[in-house]
Parts: sequence; structure tokens; C-alpha cells
Amino acid sequence: MKEKTKIDYTKPDITPEKSFDPFLESLMQFEKAANFLDLEPWIYKRLKYPEREITVHVTITLDNGHAESFTGFRVQHSTIRGPAKGGIRYSPDASLNECKALASWMTWKCAVVNIPFGGGKGAVICNPLKLSENELRKLTKEYTLAIRDLIGPFKDIPAPDMFTNEQTMAWIAEAYSQTQGYLEPAVVTGKPVYLGGSLGRKEATGTGLFFVLEEAAKYLKITLEGKKVAILGFGNVGSSIAKLVHKAGCRIIAVTDMFGGIYNEKGIDPIALAQYVVQTGSVTNFPDCDPIDNETLIALPCDILIPAAIEGQINKSNAAQVKAKIILEGANGPTTTEADEILNENQVFVLPDILANAGGVTVSYLEWVQDLQRYFFSEEEVLKKTETIMKQAFWDVVKIMTENKVSMREAAYILAVDRVAQALRALGRGV
Ligand code: NAD
Repeated sequence: MKEKTKIDYTKPDITPEKSFDPFLESLMQFEKAANFLDLEPWIYKRLKYPEREITVHVTITLDNGHAESFTGFRVQHSTIRGPAKGGIRYSPDASLNECKALASWMTWKCAVVNIPFGGGKGAVICNPLKLSENELRKLTKEYTLAIRDLIGPFKDIPAPDMFTNEQTMAWIAEAYSQTQGYLEPAVVTGKPVYLGGSLGRKEATGTGLFFVLEEAAKYLKITLEGKKVAILGFGNVGSSIAKLVHKAGCRIIAVTDMFGGIYNEKGIDPIALAQYVVQTGSVTNFPDCDPIDNETLIALPCDILIPAAIEGQINKSNAAQVKAKIILEGANGPTTTEADEILNENQVFVLPDILANAGGVTVSYLEWVQDLQRYFFSEEEVLKKTETIMKQAFWDVVKIMTENKVSMREAAYILAVDRVAQALRALGRGV
């Protein structure tokens, strides 16, 4: 379980624009691709909205003896290409619309990397940093029981997201398995390895980001060595990609998290920083660094900017200030549509979330395959398969981008929406 920190949860120092609605953002991205593909109206309408969305209220007894109720969601955007797949997030800011957006991004992401899943997402509105491990366990089990009829290895397979981790997944597996009468590891991915998890899953999103960055460097004819990197968010995704770019010879000059940030032009060691975060709960006050906030980090002169926290952080108010040549989207939906247009005009090369951060779901797919067979791959096999899938997806997207003179994001959406539409057309469901 994540170390419980002494730091109180404070509101992030950057809040998305007031009008920011992640579901609207996801719809605008879908619309562009749907127009480009000239989709039949019945396919367009079917893919626009989630297939299913549920709100649940669960009650647990806190350690102090008081009862507390929590609201949670599970959204299945699509099950056309396979079971819904997507993480569960614990956050005070979680909402149904955020889940709808994240679920649809999962549909497109799974289609970009061509794995047989649809898209889903779940969340519980809570402050995970203020709950004890015991309270989190009870909350997770109650939430799982509340959504048990929706999930299952062939229906909907949750995974970790912000403030959930392999322990959370083990609790979900346990709660679901109790309803079945036998252990069903394939109901969730991102579990501990000794419980049917896959080797390489923990770092998978970072690993996938790095494969995409390596291919982008080849496409752009640049080397990664010596490049200056700024990372916004230093959790699972931010810390994993930090270690890989550092290993490749990049210089990490700034990192922020929800409590603040650090800056050192000479470079920050991500391995030492990750150890420091385990001890203190935040990157703030890491030795030999100056403080920095998100807005300053976004505007830093650097080569690669990696958003790895929440949605909407690169928006119309700060996009023009971006000096990085490459944005590698670790987070889901970190760039708004308006910001995208500004970045395109300024020729910033954006590696879009639905391609760039698909390493996590790709290894989740491999975990699911292993669980169903009860037969497990070596870490080397997992890495090799992930590399093949991610690199193939990168060049599939590049092909559409260059042939149609569209941005990388538009190309990724065109590829994804086309694949889902093709499947739907063949199934003939809803025509
Ligand atoms: P995490 O909970 O491990 O870490 C989140 C990090 O973001 C923390 O360092 C937190 O302090 C920071 N953060 C939160 N709000 C912030 C703010 N306003 N400003 C700066 N930092 C802030 O979560 P994670 O699993 O690393 O996920 C991060 C992002 O990556 C999310 O958008 C998630 O949906 C996406 N993602 C995660 C995975 C995965 O496998 N975990 C896969 C694909 C995409």
C-alpha cells in the first residue's frame, strides 16, 4: 500500500479552466475523427456516448467508529471490440463526466494498440490520503460489491489509476472472487505478481511511453541524449518514465507533484527522488533544488515536457508558453483541444495520450491473457511483446499522419475510431 504521508491533501496549484469538461474534450476529439471518416450516422451515434454508466453509494465504518458514505462510478464506454477495460481512480475531484471521458479514451487507446478490449473507467470520490489502509480496504471491497454485476473477466476489467495500486487490485480480486466462490485473478489487472499479476506491469506505462519516445526520436531524426526534460506529476507514470529518460542520457530539470515542485538546471536524479518521495510523500524540498510550480514548469525552456498527472493541465492559458519541442502525454487528457491548436501552430510535436501511455493497458492485456491461461511469461517476454505492440502502433499512427497531413493526435483518433467502427459495422449491432 502507498505510504501514508503526513502531508494534508491540498488543492492542486493548477486547476483546469473553469469551463473544462473532460467529456466534452473527448467528444470534440472523437467528432474530428468521425467527420474525417464520414461515419454512418448509426455508427457515429453509437460510438459517441457510453454504453453504460452507473453511480453507486457505499457506506463503511471509519476507524473512529463513524459511518461514512462515498459515491463511486463505473462507466463502460464500449464493449464492441471486447470487454470494457480501464482503471479505477480515487480522488476528491472524481466525477461521472471525468469517468465518461476516461472510459472513452480507453476505447480509443485499446483500438490504437489493437488489443481486443473496449473502454471503461471507474472512480470513487474520496480523499485517499486521509483514509487509513483499513478504511481503503473496506471502501474498495464495498465499491467492488456495488459494481460486481458489471465487472468480470469477459465483461469489464478494472486496473489501477490515480491513487489506486496493486494492493487495491488485490482487494477487488478478493471481493469479486467471494461472489464467484473461487479466485478469479482475470477480473482485474495490475495485481501483485504473486497473485496473478504480470511481471513488468508496475512500470508498464512508463516503459510504453519510452518506446514511443524512442520511435519519435527516430522519426524526428534526433537523439535523446542530453535532452532537457520537465515532468508534471511524479506518481507511477511520472517516476517510471523519469527513470527511463534519465537512463537514456536525458537531463531531468524539473518535477512537480500535487504539493509543489523542484527545479535544478543541472539535473535531478529520479532514482534518489523516488526514494525521497517514499519517505516524505512529495518531491518538495528535495535537496539542491529550487521550488517551482506547474505553470512555470510548463513554460520552461526544455526539449521534452511530460504531463503525468491529471487532465486539462495544458490549456489555452498556458499552451503558447510551452517551449518544449516534444510533449509526451503520460497523463490521460492533459491537453485541451484549444491548447492542441496552439501547440500545432507552434509546431510542438505532441505524442498523444491514447498512443503514448498505452503501455499500461498493453501489459494489462498480457496480464489478462496470462491469468486466463494460468500460464505466465518472463519479464523479457512481456517487454518484447509490449515493445512490438507499441512500436507497431506508433508507425501505424505516423502513416495516417503523413498520408493525411494531420496531427499525431488526429491520426491516432482516426486509426482508433476507424477500427472500432469497422468492428461495429461487421457486427451490425444497432443498424
Ligand atoms: P499516481 O497517483 O501514481 O500519481 C499521480 C501524480 O500526479 C502524483 O505525483 C500526484 O502528486 C500528481 N498530481 C496530482 N495532481 C497534480 C497537480 N494538480 N499538479 C501536479 N501534480 C499533480 O497516478 P498515475 O498512475 O501515475 O497516473 C497519472 C496519470 O497517468 C493519470 O492521468 C492516469 O490516468 C494516467 N495513466 C496512468 C496509467 C497507469 O498505468 N497508472 C496508465 C495510463 C495513463
